[in-house]
Amino acid sequence: MRGRLGEYARYKPVFVEAIREHVCRHCIDFGNDGTCQTIDPLGCAIFRHLPKLIHIAGTLHETKIEPYIETVRKDICRKCRALNPDGSCWLRSRVDCGLDRYLILVFEALEEAWDVIRTKQKTLSSANQTD
Ligand code: SF4
Ligand code: SF4
Repeated sequence: MRGRLGEYARYKPVFVEAIREHVCRHCIDFGNDGTCQTIDPLGCAIFRHLPKLIHIAGTLHETKIEPYIETVRKDICRKCRALNPDGSCWLRSRVDCGLDRYLILVFEALEEAWDVIRTKQKTLSSANQTD
């Protein structure tokens, strides 16, 4: 069950809230009015690629950050509209990609959200068995 993209729609609010709480609140682009002030004209890559990030967080279980960086570059950056044909990214080179800048926080937030969801699923499953 864990890690399936189909879970995204159902539990989207849990993942979005986790990102807002654990990443956006610490972000240099988080405005005083609580809105995102990113210069990315397409919007922050975290939310543009959230379903894929949720999937990675649900399926990759590594203790080091390098595998997460490699997977994001391979599965997300390659398909990101901000990537240049030569493989460079003007947002990343300016440290203006929210995803690249807060990669560790992003995966910590999503892992935590998955834990919340798994706990909910277990509780529901136990309740159904006792019905
Ligand atoms: S740039 Fe990304 S991480 Fe930063 S406030 Fe905007 S949405 Fe959140
Ligand atoms: S680093 Fe660039 S290519 Fe990768 S997700 Fe961010 S904006 Fe997209």
